Amino acid sequence: TEKNIIMDETAIRRALSRIAHEILEKNRGIENCVLVGIRTRGVYLARRIAERIREIEGVSVACGELDVTPYRDDRAKTGNALSGGEQTEGTPGAALPDGGIGDKTVILCDDVLYTGRTIRAAMDALMDCGRPRMIQLAVLADRGHRELPIRADYVGKNVPTSRHEQIAVGMSEVDDKDEVYILSN
Ligand code: 5GP
Ligand code: MG
Repeated sequence: TEKNIIMDETAIRRALSRIAHEILEKNRGIENCVLVGIRTRGVYLARRIAERIREIEGVSVACGELDVTPYRDDRAKTGNALSGGEQTEGTPGAALPDGGIGDKTVILCDDVLYTGRTIRAAMDALMDCGRPRMIQLAVLADRGHRELPIRADYVGKNVPTSRHEQIAVGMSEVDDKDEVYILSN
């Protein structure tokens, strides 16, 4: 198995700084925006982007998190897919940002975008929590192979992959170090 590093710690830091700037530019600031990370690593990405925005603008942006497993169309619906984190009553696997998502621009954050099914499920989950004014998407890596008409507004890096390849995403919050690499067999 070969390990092709495509983003090291510095590259990840720069990409997240750029995304923070792009979010501010596109939304003309950060008022009425909230970040929602998809568990697990999307949550850390959301928090890192929020931290950058705070450094740039001096404003705190509310962060929430979603576990979309129960909403996926290609996973068994048995059992309780919830794991860890606080949950909002009646909404499986969600910890909503302070102030909720009603009328907000919700910026979903995830580590890798692939078929788009996770994001479709995340949008479903969000709609069960309220009515956002707008939903945008930020991902660290886009590996292609979409099966749904979904695209990201903010992309750390486009990484063309074959279906047999996997992108490994390491984040220091839960892994050895910050690193993105392709695993090919
Ligand atoms: P999709 O639902 O778009 O097919 O896949 C995206 C979700 O699956 C993301 O939450 C992501 O964490 C995970 N995922 C899909 N492909 C990869 C991959 O190559 N590497 C990693 N680390 N996660 C992936
Ligand atoms: Mg994931």
